[in-house]
Amino acid sequence: MSTAVVVGSGPNGLAAAVHLARNGVNVDVFEAADEIGGGTRSGELTLPGLIHDHCSAFHPMGAGSPYLATLDLERYGLRWRHPKIDAAHPLDGEPAALLYRSLETTAAGLGVDGPRWQRALSDLAAGFDDLASDLMRPVLNVPRHPVRLAMFGPRALLPATVAARWFRTRRGRALFGGVAAHAYTRLDRPATSAVGLMIAAAGHRYGWPVAEGGSGAIARALAAQLADHGGKIHTGVHVRSLADVPDADTVLLDVAPDAALRIVGDAVPSRVVKAYGKFRHAPGAFKVDFAIDGPIPWTDPECGRAGTVHLGGDFDEITRSERDVTLGRLPERPFVLLGQQYVADPSRSEGGVNPVYAYAHVPAGYTGDATEAIVGQIERFAPGFRDTIVATAVRGPSGLAQDNPNQVGGDIIGGSNSGLQVVFRPRMALNPYSIGVPGVYLCSASTPPGAGAHGMCGHNAAESALRHLRRKGRL
Ligand SMILES: Cc1cc2nc3c(=O)[nH]c(=O)nc-3n(C[C@H](O)[C@H](O)[C@H](O)COP(=O)(O)OP(=O)(O)OC[C@H]3O[C@@H](n4cnc5c(N)ncnc54)[C@H](O)[C@@H]3O)c2cc1C
Repeated sequence: MSTAVVVGSGPNGLAAAVHLARNGVNVDVFEAADEIGGGTRSGELTLPGLIHDHCSAFHPMGAGSPYLATLDLERYGLRWRHPKIDAAHPLDGEPAALLYRSLETTAAGLGVDGPRWQRALSDLAAGFDDLASDLMRPVLNVPRHPVRLAMFGPRALLPATVAARWFRTRRGRALFGGVAAHAYTRLDRPATSAVGLMIAAAGHRYGWPVAEGGSGAIARALAAQLADHGGKIHTGVHVRSLADVPDADTVLLDVAPDAALRIVGDAVPSRVVKAYGKFRHAPGAFKVDFAIDGPIPWTDPECGRAGTVHLGGDFDEITRSERDVTLGRLPERPFVLLGQQYVADPSRSEGGVNPVYAYAHVPAGYTGDATEAIVGQIERFAPGFRDTIVATAVRGPSGLAQDNPNQVGGDIIGGSNSGLQVVFRPRMALNPYSIGVPGVYLCSASTPPGAGAHGMCGHNAAESALRHLRRKGRL
């Protein structure tokens, strides 16, 4: 029987392991932390009984993942729970813009921008499955759905600042700005519309669900399926070199590119070392988990029905704050993504005390304390929030990196989405998963299609590993 070692048990490491094991490979996964899951962990970060997501919280791309859809993870306990409203975007002095799973309901709330929102997204949402099957794999491939791709391309390549001109109202532009900010980079650069359009389209197709009981359910479901196929997971093993793991026919690394170079060492060809040396990480995150007494006192009560709340003001303000962060400055009012997972999944709360998740976009490696800036952004749209706080758990960029070595400088998306790196990651190559050493592959979010708990990087890298094993006659 052929053998594989997977280093790291994030959603991509686990997806890779499951794909290999289901194809008859004997798989061992080695995880540095004491707990599996990487970005899909959850637990009692503030008070007993309150379940917080460490990282991934909302899963348009998880629910819409072509690979996860094949795994019947429900059988292993994964249940998606949907909020009534996927995302709210409050504004000073006017009602919040609201993103629903239904395109029509979203459009109906946007006034003159309703038809414009529909024009921008209806074909992408209707054709999301086709688009995903092309966009969630390396871009240097013969497209399976060239017409859909050709229709998406011109929109995706626009800077978000240009695409925002499709909308006439402050609310329409802000709603678009909130989803575009998920690109985690300057919005005036080419192709910064792509990420926002994809997650909005995925949302209109699949919603922005949370995992019942916490995102750890995603990792547990993948691990249970892996165990069914004979795979084993070893926690508490920080792999620093290939000498730390058993010999195997193939090795998959769910790690950042620079860590892959350290692990594999001198065997990596110099062209790959050089390319990885140019790999750019994204700005950082500063995360605060709150335990709050009761609900958040939103000025616009509709925000209280949303899973995600984007706190960043209008489009121009978001553009400025994202630019500042990219240039290494913490804006007075950073873009904050707030999660109310308990709205969709009441099992996260305990006796009227609710877990609230919030993180701000901050410069890479930011060493200050952004807690007040985050509380200030929430207070701006929910005066009195401060008085509801019972407990907090704070993790800045260094805490995030300590928690998970993939989060270099607090980068939570596995590498910058700016420039060509949004599609060519970690380097421009026909097989971006190959690290130039036969049988060794990178499978983390630093590879296509990038960040998110969708497992597609792992699946695609495992496909490369399977081809290698067949070529070698090991399968
Ligand atoms: C605050 C935050 C919010 C997010 N929100 C969302 C969201 O709402 N929706 C969404 O889809 N995504 C979200 N993400 C992104 C998502 O979590 C990641 O894109 C995803 O987890 C990447 O998966 P991965 O398997 O590539 O890596 P990771 O999940 O980072 O897992 C890598 C694993 O490898 C282990 N590891 C690393 N190096 C070694 C080593 N040398 N030896 C052994 N083990 C090692 C790590 O400990 C870790 O467990 C968020 C991330 C963060 C941090």
